[in-house]
Amino acid sequence: MNKIVYDWEHSRPFNDFSGYFKKQFSERVQKIAVDAGFTCPNRDGSKAKGGCTYCNNDTFNPFYCSPKKTITEQLKEGIAFFSPKYKAQKYIAYFQAYTNTYSDIESLKKMYLEALSVKGVIGLSIATRPDCVDNDILDFLQELAEKYYIALEYGIESCNNETLKNINRGHTFEESVEALNMSANRGLHVGVHYILGLPGDSRNEMLEHAKMLSQLPFETLKLHQLQIIKKTVMAKQFIDNTEMFELFTSEEYIEFVVKFVELLNPKIIIERFISESPADLLIAPKWGGIKNFEIVSKIEKHFIAQNTWQGRLYKS
Ligand code: SF4
Repeated sequence: MNKIVYDWEHSRPFNDFSGYFKKQFSERVQKIAVDAGFTCPNRDGSKAKGGCTYCNNDTFNPFYCSPKKTITEQLKEGIAFFSPKYKAQKYIAYFQAYTNTYSDIESLKKMYLEALSVKGVIGLSIATRPDCVDNDILDFLQELAEKYYIALEYGIESCNNETLKNINRGHTFEESVEALNMSANRGLHVGVHYILGLPGDSRNEMLEHAKMLSQLPFETLKLHQLQIIKKTVMAKQFIDNTEMFELFTSEEYIEFVVKFVELLNPKIIIERFISESPADLLIAPKWGGIKNFEIVSKIEKHFIAQNTWQGRLYKS
């Protein structure tokens, strides 16, 4: 077997987030989720009603996180929970639930600055949709990025407009490309969220998406397998029309994700390979209680067994 030489400095067969994240800071940094009471344009009727067909925001929030509390209270409770576990650490306020740039600029400034004023908070991570940013928001985040770690995470989900329409996403792939271009070169840590296995995206098409994503200006990628969650439109579709879905078994997913990542630009940092929704909310696929870290370890072993690595088949 040939010795594998990776493009990045660490020794895993993919460009791994934990190594990158450690390099950004001189001490341990923990993300603390915040629910600032946002909604999203897919729920309030401005784009659509009912939300994306797979979405149930109850899968996101930890116990300390509730819009009934102030941002400061949520962060302080989150910090009190995590700080006894580790000695020295700093925190990033993670605006996670719903669309966290979906408000007027003055309210956004107030919320972000409140989070940054909490002792120990050194940055923000903001999850949003590609159609919910503009230059005013990005200019403000760029200003913050001169002093703080500012990550902006876009839900792209698919590169196929037909799929995006079918899942009631309410934006196109072209809007995703535009948002990424607008966010580039501003000192922001821009990330993308992409779902593997949406109905309408064939496996070959998803491999094409790996090539398309590879040409876009962003730094980190969160991948996850499609999961059917209770109290979603997709849950009903799954019961009424199961053949619409081609859900991955864990073995298929491990094999497929390696093929996907072989095509990816080696510069893209992989922040997540899978998602693990609460067991009481998950309808399918059920992978027998196997934990995220076990799947990641199997993915890593599969890369090595195949003598392959991230970007092996990437063409710029
Ligand atoms: S996934 Fe995001 S954009 Fe879609 S309905 Fe849920 S919160 Fe809104």
